Parts: sequence; structure tokens; C-alpha cells
Amino acid sequence: MNVVLLEPSEVDAHGQATLEGRRAAHVASVLRKAPGDALSVGLVGGRIGEATVVSSTKTTLVLRDCSFDRAPAPKRPITVVLALPRPPVFRRLLQHLTALGVERLVLLHTKRVEKSYWMSPALEPEAIDAQIRLGLEQAVDTVPLLVERARGFKAFVQDRLGALAEGARLLVAHPGAHPPCPADVQGRVVVLIGPEGGFIPYEVDRLCEAGAEPVSLGSRVLRVETATVALLGRLGDRA
Ligand code: SAM
Repeated sequence: MNVVLLEPSEVDAHGQATLEGRRAAHVASVLRKAPGDALSVGLVGGRIGEATVVSSTKTTLVLRDCSFDRAPAPKRPITVVLALPRPPVFRRLLQHLTALGVERLVLLHTKRVEKSYWMSPALEPEAIDAQIRLGLEQAVDTVPLLVERARGFKAFVQDRLGALAEGARLLVAHPGAHPPCPADVQGRVVVLIGPEGGFIPYEVDRLCEAGAEPVSLGSRVLRVETATVALLGRLGDRA
């Protein structure tokens, strides 16, 4: 946790806040803050700054002089369209995508996505928020990743992909003899990542007809999680 995120309602008019639970436990046990120490804080959806620790125990953290004087790092203009992965992978990816500054995530159903994944508790809004919060705390950010769903592949390509990709570079990560994923792209990017079993040829064809460029991450076939992080690293900070 590199920033303690506070809800606006948790900070009183005098800049004081009292927190209980996970954040208090982390500050006491991992960050080992003592009275008088400075602590990095941020307002959910808002600015970041510093506070001073008044007291810190494993159950309760009291802060004073909470000030929020600067904006967090801007989001990268990247939309990831991800074939819905297994729930444990999905949970971890929410953290990775958030920490890497991705603006928007669209969860997509494709032929090789297990239908039961859509029923997972990992997709409950509170569960999604909890993972995003961990990613924000890691990367000193306050603005949550936007998460959307597209349950039908055909409808997504026909009705939504055009608007999503307008003014953006549209890439589909697909193992094979394709050009390498571009490095250090500038401007908006929409990137599609397939399920563990991959996109079927029909899906790749439809995406390419819609303007997507198939790109490779090398000759090794990577797990979804590895491919996603490798791809975002390769696109660079300006995408
Ligand atoms: N057998 C599947 C196939 O050939 O498509 C493997 C799918 S891979 C485990 C899951 C997803 O990660 C792929 O659909 C693709 O989006 C991405 N991926 C993994 N390795 C890749 C690579 N070397 N180049 C481009 N994309 C890759």
C-alpha cells in the first residue's frame, strides 16, 4: 500500500480522519508508522497528498492535517478488451490493469470463455471495487478503472467496437506469425486479449474486418495474465 485511500466522507472539516480495519492494520503492521510520521493519502476519485499520524494500532488509525494538493498520475488512454478469464486470474488482472494505469476494461464473451465465469462472485461490483482499490493503493492512484461487460461477441463487434476504437489504434493480441506488437505507441489504443484457449479463427477474422491489427508478443504462447502485462509494458507510457 503506497497510498492510503480515503472516502471524502472519512475526512472531517479539520482534516482529521479515523480509520479502522484493513488500512489501519496495514499502516501499523507493514508500514510501521508511529505518531508524528507522515503518510501518503489520497481521496477516492480525487487528489493525493499527505497526512500526519496521530496514533496507529492494528485496529485504529487516526490522522490529522490531511491535505490533498496534487493530482495523481494521469490514466493511460488504453482500453483493454479482455475475454473473461477464470475468476482468480480476473481478480489479479483487475489489480494489474489498475496499477498500470489502464483507463477502461471491457469484459468480453467469446467462444472459448466458460459461461459459468459470468456467474462468479468475482464479478460482483463490491468484489471488483475491492481489487481495483488494491491496484490504486499500489500505484498511488485514486481514479478507479472503468469496467464494462459485453456478453455477446457479434453484438460487441457490430455495435460497440466502432465507437470504442474511433481515433484509436486497434490491436488484437494473437499468437502466430503476425507483426510484433508496436512499442511506445502514442495516443489512444484499444487492445483485445483472448481467453486461455485463444480466439477462434472466426473471431479473429471479424475483428480484423473491423479494423484490428493482429499483433504478436513473440514465439512463446503466454498465459492471459502474462500476455496482458507484457503487452501493456510494450505499448509504453504514452499510450
Ligand atoms: N492456444 C491459444 C492460441 O493459440 O490462441 C493460446 C491462447 S493464450 C494462452 C491467451 C491469449 O493471450 C491469446 O488469445 C492472446 O490474446 C494472448 N497471447 C498469448 N501469447 C501471445 C503471443 N505470443 N502473442 C500474442 N498474443 C498472445
